[in-house]
Amino acid sequence: MWWSWLVVLYFVIPGRTVQGVVLRNGQRLDYPINGLSSFLVTLCTAGLVYGKFGFVPFLWVADHFFQLAAASYMFSTAQALFVYLRSFRRPSHGAQPVMLALAGNSGNPVYDFFIGRELNPRIGALDLKYFNELRPGIMGWVVLNVSFAIKQYHTLGYVSNSMWLAVVPQIGYCIDTLLFESKVLTTMDITTDGFGWMLSFGDLTWVPVMYSLQARYLAFHPVHHSTVATALIAVMGVASFLVFRLSNSEKNAFRTNPNGPSVSHLRFIKTESGSKLLVSGWWGLARHINYTGDWMFGLAQCLATGFDTPMTYFFSAYFLVLLLHRNYRDECKCREKYKKDWDRYCEIVPCMFIPYVI
Ligand code: NDP
Repeated sequence: MWWSWLVVLYFVIPGRTVQGVVLRNGQRLDYPINGLSSFLVTLCTAGLVYGKFGFVPFLWVADHFFQLAAASYMFSTAQALFVYLRSFRRPSHGAQPVMLALAGNSGNPVYDFFIGRELNPRIGALDLKYFNELRPGIMGWVVLNVSFAIKQYHTLGYVSNSMWLAVVPQIGYCIDTLLFESKVLTTMDITTDGFGWMLSFGDLTWVPVMYSLQARYLAFHPVHHSTVATALIAVMGVASFLVFRLSNSEKNAFRTNPNGPSVSHLRFIKTESGSKLLVSGWWGLARHINYTGDWMFGLAQCLATGFDTPMTYFFSAYFLVLLLHRNYRDECKCREKYKKDWDRYCEIVPCMFIPYVI
């Protein structure tokens, strides 16, 4: 039902249409930019639901977390099976052949099902990978977080400062993701990876279930921080978010228009591929300082849960592995694309994550 609701909004909410990157066959696909407005409509609907039923539906969500997680797991697996089987269809006469992901066409059914065989599976105008990437999971994460905060309020009569520290930044992160929705079109997930079980499960199940871990823990184990600890965690959250957001925006602005007013003062090197690489500003400090900001931001929310259990720090451990693996894949991609120019860039910007350290 949640998935269907967002599909309906995907089609009915007005928004501009943008084109994705040029595909191997020279084609560019259209994508609607209405994720944030879909979120706002969902928020207003949640407000109406609250007006009629009070906290009851939100408490139901918090109390049925495991059932919802199981349903999401089954749905994401069924969806992956559907796109895998459908990737073998024969195109109708005159239609473009099915475009497969380069890495998802090994011939090993288990691997191809896992990694994703078809690059951009679509049902009519519904681009399944793009839709799943930012909508049901990201918005589901917000719904779970709000439900857990309401659960705590219902139990304690107030929301603890630790809950605010965990939930508010995460909701802000989701809104930021939806606000910059079009940026997802240039990420590896959309341009390179097929849509298989990994992304279907990751988007629909893993993100909302695992990323809401801190709020879920705090709903049942409230933690109360001193004013100093609250301030320190809040400052860490804001500072790391700024590193994440400003570095990503700087590169996006540079890639959109290297002569734009916000980036024209930055130094760069020209490469034989035709692309330029920034060597000053955020990207002159470290080659993936955006990952550092993102990771520290997540750590701040883990710290909000205190030190009574290592369980809530699972997110930081997992996210570290994800970002290290992503960094490795991106370095391989850039080395392949820029060849000796990448070595030149690495000499100028030797650190990967923390300036002067690593
Ligand atoms: P990045 O935004 O880091 O982009 C990497 C690409 O940027 C490179 O392939 C290269 O592409 C270009 N680039 C690298 N160095 C330079 C430079 N010096 N100057 C100009 N361009 C350069 O990749 P991601 O998509 O992995 O990450 C985006 C954000 O999303 C990150 O902040 C990450 O933390 C976050 N993220 C969050 C996840 C989550 O689960 N919360 C999951 C994954 C990512 P080219 O030169 O070809 O343009």
